Amino acid sequence: MSYVTGLRCVICGARYRPDQVRYVCPRHGNEGVLDVEYDYPAISRALGLAAGQPATLARNSFGRGMFAYRPLLPVDESTPEPLLLVGGTPLYEAPRLAAAAGVQQVWVKDDGRNPTASLKDRASALAVMKAREAGAAVITTASTGNAAAALAGLAASTGQATVIFVPAAAPPAKIAQLLVYGATVLLVEGTYDDAFDLCLEASTAFGWYCRNTAYNPYMAEGKKTVVFELYDQLRLKPPGGSNLPEVALTHLFVSVGDGCILGGVYKGLRDLVGLGLLAEMPHLMGVQAAGSAYLYDAWRNGEDVLAKPPIQAHTVADSISAGLPRDRVKAMAAIRETGGAFVRVTDEEILAAIPALARGCGVFAEPAGAAAYAGLLQAVAQGQVGPEARVALLVTGNGLKDVAAARQAARQAMTIRPTLAAVKAAIGA
Ligand SMILES: *Cc1c(COP(=O)(O)O)cnc(C)c1O
Ligand SMILES: [Zn+2]
Repeated sequence: MSYVTGLRCVICGARYRPDQVRYVCPRHGNEGVLDVEYDYPAISRALGLAAGQPATLARNSFGRGMFAYRPLLPVDESTPEPLLLVGGTPLYEAPRLAAAAGVQQVWVKDDGRNPTASLKDRASALAVMKAREAGAAVITTASTGNAAAALAGLAASTGQATVIFVPAAAPPAKIAQLLVYGATVLLVEGTYDDAFDLCLEASTAFGWYCRNTAYNPYMAEGKKTVVFELYDQLRLKPPGGSNLPEVALTHLFVSVGDGCILGGVYKGLRDLVGLGLLAEMPHLMGVQAAGSAYLYDAWRNGEDVLAKPPIQAHTVADSISAGLPRDRVKAMAAIRETGGAFVRVTDEEILAAIPALARGCGVFAEPAGAAAYAGLLQAVAQGQVGPEARVALLVTGNGLKDVAAARQAARQAMTIRPTLAAVKAAIGA
């Protein structure tokens, strides 16, 4: 049993019981992404919210890491959580980044600290549990790299088999993760979008459980847990009369490829509102790479994302390279409904943000993770974010995922002969 009441199509609003459909709205094919709905009064009781505001939403008695929020997750009580510890990542206040950006406060949520080093672990943890509930022997996914690494790692921890479709051009570290974890790895000669379609076809043909982003309705549910942690770590502004300290977050920056993290973050905020814990949502700021700016363009030009054709995506930030963002309906709603904005940053700005973020707070991000900081700088420059802003940056992936990009961005090391004289000369003493 879980507290899920149904699945609702983001296009037509049709409702389904979880046992009626596995992935998408039958009336809308792959575009019919489903939103998971819950019985909030029952969850409220399970969390003891009626008895007064608890110190935190998380309960260690429910589970570890993200599973401390288990009543808000779409899995049966009896399904065991995976071995690896997912979520429970640190949040750092970063005054030097705030000063550099010209805003009041900056917090950095380091989700590169997850077991396979990206936020995707939050989704893949649910994927292995849902596959077990479905009795599937094999789990499959298409991915730019991180979702696959996360699935391979989580499945290795539970002994489940995986077949992975990634673009042949994925960074070597991510491919290495897949191979080490024992996944069957298919390097697709094509883009992420090609890999996505091929994976769907194969999962239907072979009866594999499909984790594909936005196609599988439960992935956003895993990703939303990052917001519950932010809530507990920051005490987001609660409705009046609460005894919680008020620390209001004004903006949350998230890098965007398919839009599933952005949509998941928005879902987490809606859950908090549904539970009566949040009066006002922070503005969600979706950061896109200039070479993969489908959603930015659609938002700027008021285009219908169900009619807008795919683009050719090219960016150094491989994790946010998506020609047809699969969760585009949810992503657009997240920006619109929170009074947020999409921000576009160049590859040069993304690369420059890697050392700037690392030197400003000690967190080493892969390009798509550092893009959140590049987006903040851009939004301040554009006047979208003012000096009074209190900002959280979601760092979605660790810098060791893509060492080549980091080396491109950082200055060169000095090579010296092994003598003190050489050291003196090198440091200019
Ligand atoms: C997947 C990913 C993103 C983007 O998430 P979407 O749901 O595709 O928008 C951003 N950063 C990293 C590190 C990722 O792995
Ligand atoms: Zn529908």
